[in-house]
Amino acid sequence: MRYFPVFMDLQQQPVLVVGGGTVAERKIRLLLKAGANVRVVAGRLSENVEAWKAEGRIEHVGASWNGHFLEGARLVFAATNDPDLNREVFNSAEARCIPVNVVDNQDLCRFISPAVVDRSPVQVAISTAGTAPVLARRLRGWIERLLPQNIGRVAAAAGRVRERVKQALPEPERRRFWEMQLSDRRLLGWAGKTTSQIGADMILSMRNRERQQGPGKVFLVGAGPGRADLLTLRALEVLGRADVILHDRLVTDEILDLARRDADRIFVGKQAGNHHRTQQQIHRIMLEQARVGKTVVRLKGGDPFIFGRGGEELEVLRSQGIEYEVVPGITAALGCAAYAGIPLTHRDHAKSVTFVTGHFSAEQASGAINWKGICGQDRTTVIYMGAGQARNIRSGLLEAGISQDLPVALVMDGTRDTQQVVNGTVDTLPTLAQAAGKGVPALLIIGQVAALGSNLGWFTEQTELKTAA
Ligand code: SAH
Repeated sequence: MRYFPVFMDLQQQPVLVVGGGTVAERKIRLLLKAGANVRVVAGRLSENVEAWKAEGRIEHVGASWNGHFLEGARLVFAATNDPDLNREVFNSAEARCIPVNVVDNQDLCRFISPAVVDRSPVQVAISTAGTAPVLARRLRGWIERLLPQNIGRVAAAAGRVRERVKQALPEPERRRFWEMQLSDRRLLGWAGKTTSQIGADMILSMRNRERQQGPGKVFLVGAGPGRADLLTLRALEVLGRADVILHDRLVTDEILDLARRDADRIFVGKQAGNHHRTQQQIHRIMLEQARVGKTVVRLKGGDPFIFGRGGEELEVLRSQGIEYEVVPGITAALGCAAYAGIPLTHRDHAKSVTFVTGHFSAEQASGAINWKGICGQDRTTVIYMGAGQARNIRSGLLEAGISQDLPVALVMDGTRDTQQVVNGTVDTLPTLAQAAGKGVPALLIIGQVAALGSNLGWFTEQTELKTAA
């Protein structure tokens, strides 16, 4: 161990910073957050440091260096662009045994400052002992994503009620109580709650200990269009703490790999004409799992409320008194449009956008769907589950008087590395749809904007964009 880690209480403590530029500013910002009394020695101050001085948040003790500034300082940072001066500050501080850090010069550091994940009062400090600062920052990014967003509030709440719990519960019951309170399930349930609410919940469950084993909770989670990095942070957090995951066909392995390793995975996918499970069976599994106290994630492609039967599932949960939460996802229309370079609205081309399901009978294609109302020159229509209906959609559109030259884009496997975009028109819709392979999710975008992708597309190679005959 090259460095000894500590967390230092700097509240109201004098800390000297030599330098007033942007590098010094970063240190000062952090020191102010930690409540230190910052004294600055610098000929010139950056705009922000100047502002802090005007607000009385820092003390500008001098323009040029003098060893007596070190008097009483708990720590010293040197961040000037003069190497000789930095060394002089280092030597003076060392002579007085005051811990010193010359920014970005490890040889002149008695201590180094870590990369920090700050969810105060929870703090995670990361160090690579100066070997790879970039790696430390990467680690910080990973840990940021790993930690529940509300961990700071939970810790603060635990701090507030700690004494009361100590009075009320002897060991080992107390320890079990805390393990239960800080379980994944409790942490998830507290998202969005304030510190006081969390504290109140803790006290409540201390009083009702016998009722702690209630039913679990169901999270209806949108997995987005397929790319793992398009998941929301909340989805990632919930996946990491699930006991059971019910997923369908649209959810990619890349995403399932992010789930808790020992979570049970149940495939409840439906494929056209080949129903693995009926909706009723899905409801039953969901209820069974929740009733035995599990954290259940119902993971759906895209967004659970867009052609995902999410509403029906919530109705069942509500009627059975099972607690639930909905985590939105990026719906296919938004994901595919972004990754195909097709802006769904555009000042010159589309004033509105409609999402419509292509899951209908042949009669509905021409009759029941009001194509005239949702499709045309100045609007965008996105059809989910429509590739297999291309011929019927074409007839419906033409009967409604929509121009046969209106551009159409077919996006297959949108946002994934295998994405393909094919451009055509209402007239060539059936040929276009032939490109869509079986089992590959495909989306139709109809309207003037559909033609913009061949110019604005950025994700798949331009050469992959071909016009259907
Ligand atoms: N709830 C989902 C939609 C479910 S319906 C959402 O919000 O996206 C399933 C249809 O969505 C597919 O038939 C296809 O039309 C579309 N779809 C989903 N993911 C897609 C993708 N990655 N690329 C293209 N289309 C997709």
